[in-house]
Amino acid sequence: MLHLSRKLELCRHVNPSLLVPSFQFSFSIITNKRAAEQSCLSLLQDCNSTSKISQIHNRILKLGLHNNVLVLTKFTSTCSDLNAVDYATSFLFPPNADSSTYDAFLFNTIIRAYSQTGDSKTRSVYYFKLMLDCGILPNKFTFPFVLKACAGIGFMNLGLQVHGLVLKLGFDHDLHVGNTLIHMYCCVRDVEYACKVFDEMPKSDSVTWTAMISGYTRLGMSSDAVELFRKMQIFKIRPDEITMISVLSACTDLGALELGKWVESYIEKENIPRTVELCNASIDMFSKTGDINRAMKLFRGMSKRTIVSWTSMISGLANNGQGSEAISMFEEMKEAGIAPDDVAFIGILTACSHSGLVEEGRKWFDSIRNEYSFEPKIEHYGCMVDLFCRAGLIEEAEQFVKKMPFKPNSIILRTLITGCRVHGKFRLGESITKELIRIEPMQESNYVLLSSIYAKTMSWENKTLIREAMDKKGIRKVPGSTMIEIDNRIYEFVSGDKSHYESDEIYKMLDEMGREMKRAGYVSITSEVLLDIDDEDKEDALNRHGEKLAIAFALLKTPYGTPIRVVKNLRVCFDCHSAIKFISKVYNRQITMRDRNRFHHFTNGICSCKDFW
Ligand code: ZN
Ligand code: ZN
Repeated sequence: MLHLSRKLELCRHVNPSLLVPSFQFSFSIITNKRAAEQSCLSLLQDCNSTSKISQIHNRILKLGLHNNVLVLTKFTSTCSDLNAVDYATSFLFPPNADSSTYDAFLFNTIIRAYSQTGDSKTRSVYYFKLMLDCGILPNKFTFPFVLKACAGIGFMNLGLQVHGLVLKLGFDHDLHVGNTLIHMYCCVRDVEYACKVFDEMPKSDSVTWTAMISGYTRLGMSSDAVELFRKMQIFKIRPDEITMISVLSACTDLGALELGKWVESYIEKENIPRTVELCNASIDMFSKTGDINRAMKLFRGMSKRTIVSWTSMISGLANNGQGSEAISMFEEMKEAGIAPDDVAFIGILTACSHSGLVEEGRKWFDSIRNEYSFEPKIEHYGCMVDLFCRAGLIEEAEQFVKKMPFKPNSIILRTLITGCRVHGKFRLGESITKELIRIEPMQESNYVLLSSIYAKTMSWENKTLIREAMDKKGIRKVPGSTMIEIDNRIYEFVSGDKSHYESDEIYKMLDEMGREMKRAGYVSITSEVLLDIDDEDKEDALNRHGEKLAIAFALLKTPYGTPIRVVKNLRVCFDCHSAIKFISKVYNRQITMRDRNRFHHFTNGICSCKDFW
């Protein structure tokens, strides 16, 4: 090493005039480069249209900034903001590129951009892999984006691999990463893994709980969703509007109006922001749990409405048997300048059907194509078949089905069969039911339908044949279950249920109900029972259907006059439907039943479905 004094001496021998300009020169390169970089960055900052992107790109190339990581990253994020991330990725990674030009931030920008659009989620994962191939370690911002993409793609294995990497790099303690892991596992329908991540997270926030609750709701595990929401309060974690949307949707699924009302008052009390989406969820809950008036009150109170708000109301009114109100709501929506979508048309056609407005229905159906220029879907055709069948126009319905551009699905065939049954066209009903059994051979309820038609025509031998056919195919009965909500608790009853702690009282009540109903003129419809047992036993088997047990329980537990609400997972049987009509009259109770297909509002011996379901 040269001694300092020697260095100084050497410097003296150097011509100062040579030294100074060269120093100035290198300084000017730096300042020019900085200036160029700054000018590109500020151009990108102000860039608000895709047309300017290529101009800026040319400038970057001209200034030799194509390897400048700061500029490249800003360029990519600008492209991403303008939905043009493809432009950036088209030149960013040429073969043999020097990977030291890239960093995690750049990749995160790309992975995030692709994770947000529906059909490019696989690209998000592709760039995640490229990031690893370039030797760049993902950070805590990378994982939420790539997990979101995995959730959208829905491949369990992919998600598992990314989760493995999360653990390896020690990001499993990161709150945001944990939250997206739960979301991802729920999306790929692996609730067990989602729960495991949830349970093992060292910290949690409202997003964590919401991810788990909405996961449960989406997977149809509504009771678990409600249970977790209760736990959330015990842990004093404040839910937000997204949580409440999921909880409301769980209540809707459970048909739990009382619980739904409680959730509503909770939203009020906790001042949770009433976004349009939250209001829509409340409207949906009230109209699907049978309290259409409350739904209407909420709808009228909304300052801003979306098409979902309108269609929820239209369908709600139609399904609750208020056809003409649904039609005026539809007209009101059009006057408000909102063009009806296919859901709105399902609502209006259902309304016409429930109100027997055949001509109106035909007019609306034609207007889908003529006025609104879209092709009616199979659901719209289904509504028309329902409309004709209810009105007793069975032949017209049959012709309509023959002319459809689709093959009829099981819903349409079932509607036709119901029409035949109600309007006494048993021969036609029989042949359509056989067709239905051909396309759905394992569906038990189809055999029940055929059996009930044979019972009407007194073809007892054929009934035995059905029983044999079912045994041969090994068709198992889907266990019917009825849920009832009393004092904010949900009770479930299956057929012949004796598991309830007050089972003895319930069966005593059931006997009493039987006597009262018979006095009022009720005769059990034993054709519902397929088992080869004599009539007295059949009556007994029918008597033990879950809905009757649930109603007996409600009569025991609730004060006189309280409305009763039950939810059944299958279609209600003919006998229960007839029995509930009598119960509503004898015990003077309003009974609302939601079965697999629709609402039945029983009052004073009459059902809102007018015996067509
Ligand atoms: Zn029944
Ligand atoms: Zn009914």
